[in-house]
Amino acid sequence: MCKYTLTIIKPLAVKNSHVGEVLQMINVDGGFRIAGMKMITLSRQQVKEFYKVHKEKPFFDSLTNFMTSGPVVVAVLEKENAIEEYRKLIGKTDPKEALSGTIRKLYGINIQANCVHGSDTPENAIKEIQFFFSTSEIFDEEGNLIDVSIT
Ligand code: GDP
Repeated sequence: MCKYTLTIIKPLAVKNSHVGEVLQMINVDGGFRIAGMKMITLSRQQVKEFYKVHKEKPFFDSLTNFMTSGPVVVAVLEKENAIEEYRKLIGKTDPKEALSGTIRKLYGINIQANCVHGSDTPENAIKEIQFFFSTSEIFDEEGNLIDVSIT
């Protein structure tokens, strides 16, 4: 069971000033500890690598354009059973299908601009965290640096 997951608050949610509300849902209401966090702009190359499983999909170009359209907030979240718990909190990929009260239902605009990303497996969570964060950017509760791949 993996204690860590990666989230991305996507460009339109940042642009529409939903960062505060989303972090409130994650950190306060959802009980996830934020172990690392930063605002960055993704390059086209980074998006293509991050979403490479979708490279043959018809929406790949559109997704790349969207994810590079403005800054995102990336964060490492910690909780018991983090991946499953976070997928529950964000809801289904398409906000129309997400349960009420989920982040995507509340702040998602459409299937592409669905407010947030959440890792889907322990292997991907570790890979995705290491994609965005170095070991000097992730902390335990006391502020000591942690390596998520060995915890
Ligand atoms: P997730 O794990 O719930 O984020 O869903 P996926 O791994 O299937 O898709 C990755 C991301 O691609 C989603 O979060 C959306 O931003 C985007 N996406 C998925 N399906 C579609 C689609 O049918 N059309 C468009 N435009 N974007 C999509």
